Amino acid sequence: MNELIVATKNKGKVKEFAEIFSEKGCSVKSLLDFPSIEDIEESGTTFRDNAIIKAEAISKRFNKMVIADDSGLAVDALGGNPGIYSARYAGPEKDDQKNIEKLLKELEGFAFEERTARFHCALAVAIPGKETKVFEGICEGIITDEPKGENGFGYDPIMYIPNLEKTMAELLPTEKNAISHRAKAIQEFQKHIDEII
Ligand code: IMP
Repeated sequence: MNELIVATKNKGKVKEFAEIFSEKGCSVKSLLDFPSIEDIEESGTTFRDNAIIKAEAISKRFNKMVIADDSGLAVDALGGNPGIYSARYAGPEKDDQKNIEKLLKELEGFAFEERTARFHCALAVAIPGKETKVFEGICEGIITDEPKGENGFGYDPIMYIPNLEKTMAELLPTEKNAISHRAKAIQEFQKHIDEII
């Protein structure tokens, strides 16, 4: 049986990947199974580079197939920030609430139509002896001027999806999974999964 490692400690992500790969006859492990593994420095300048860096570093360490994702929010009025620094925008403690407060402050005075933004997700698949493949997904929206909704995480309460007339945090998990950047990257990967594994 093929064994692969998902380079994350996020239980939600591990569950999603385990569901996809068990159908393909693969057993899935994650960094939760290797708590002593050191953090990989995300030294790239794009989501794509950071996903590749994480996937290749862990693949080399275990000599196994590894999947890593990197994601974040790019706001047009801020020149694409917070971008790859989304998790630590307001400081190293990675506090969602503080990140939202900082972003809303930066956007004070910007009109609704100037607050366009998008979530990005890059998914890298590293296999020993093969070229690393990357799949990407994007989800477009507009940054609100106050948080709304209780679901999701990160910037979801201030990411308004115009055609659903709701913030991401007002969507049910199934609704978010139908449109999210992460779901789209996973769908792209699934299209190629049989030729990859
Ligand atoms: P990571 O890919 O888990 O490192 O996430 C990077 C950061 O981007 C998160 O900490 C969030 O702040 C933000 N982010 C990524 N995906 C989402 C999402 O689906 N909703 C809201 N925020 C997100």
